Amino acid sequence: MLKVIKNRLEQGHRTSKYPKEPINLYKRFRGLPEIDNNCDEALVQRCADACPQEAIDVAAKQIDLGRCVFCGLCESLSEGKFVHFTQNFEMGTANRDDLLTYGDLPVLAEHSQKHFKKLFGRSLQLRQISAGGCNACEADINVLNTPFFDLSRFGIQFVASPRHADGIMVTGPISKNMRQATLSTYAAVPNPKVVIACGACAISGGPFYDSDEIVGDLNSLISVDLYIPGCPPHPLTTLHALLNYFK
Ligand code: SF4
Ligand code: SF4
Repeated sequence: MLKVIKNRLEQGHRTSKYPKEPINLYKRFRGLPEIDNNCDEALVQRCADACPQEAIDVAAKQIDLGRCVFCGLCESLSEGKFVHFTQNFEMGTANRDDLLTYGDLPVLAEHSQKHFKKLFGRSLQLRQISAGGCNACEADINVLNTPFFDLSRFGIQFVASPRHADGIMVTGPISKNMRQATLSTYAAVPNPKVVIACGACAISGGPFYDSDEIVGDLNSLISVDLYIPGCPPHPLTTLHALLNYFK
């Protein structure tokens, strides 16, 4: 027991001060892109041809963050002349269309913020549904429960039963085998409830977007309230989206 106490004292306080204090991520982290609208269209076309996700709109010179897996290919191919990924991890949006971006995102929808803040501002319980992804999204959601992020200090928790939940957070491209389970879990959550699409798979099918074995995207099945892009989303991207949407 003394060893445990000694170890605890040596470890000190490890919980991040975010959002009270800003946090800097490692320089290799790819977050919100900056796009140069004046760059050559031929270069954008080359990036679009190489993009594994068909996430680049050449005519508009925009990137769809709902499809992007942040592989960085377009940045290296254009040597930063078309797109440069910043370390800004704050990328959650309330509308799917907002994820098609020049590099700027609106503040999370004000009316939804007010609506959900009133309902869930003090306590938000979520049921996570893993609907056929690679498990990296789930792993990075799980990280939110570690002492560094300590999600429960904000009154947000993941629960085992959908009947105890205020909403669902879905990861994965919704394989056909998971379609009914996703719908049944959603139905088991009492009203009013929220739906969160976490990761490129749940938003657009992600790397599986052209597979015949998936439903396609969560919004085609259930109306989504909050989108959290990434592959997987960084835990801070998820934390920021939850805090700004509900708190
Ligand atoms: S970073 Fe995104 S937009 Fe760029 S090539 Fe990769 S998937 Fe496509
Ligand atoms: S979005 Fe990426 S990390 Fe998340 S489940 Fe899909 S492939 Fe895996």
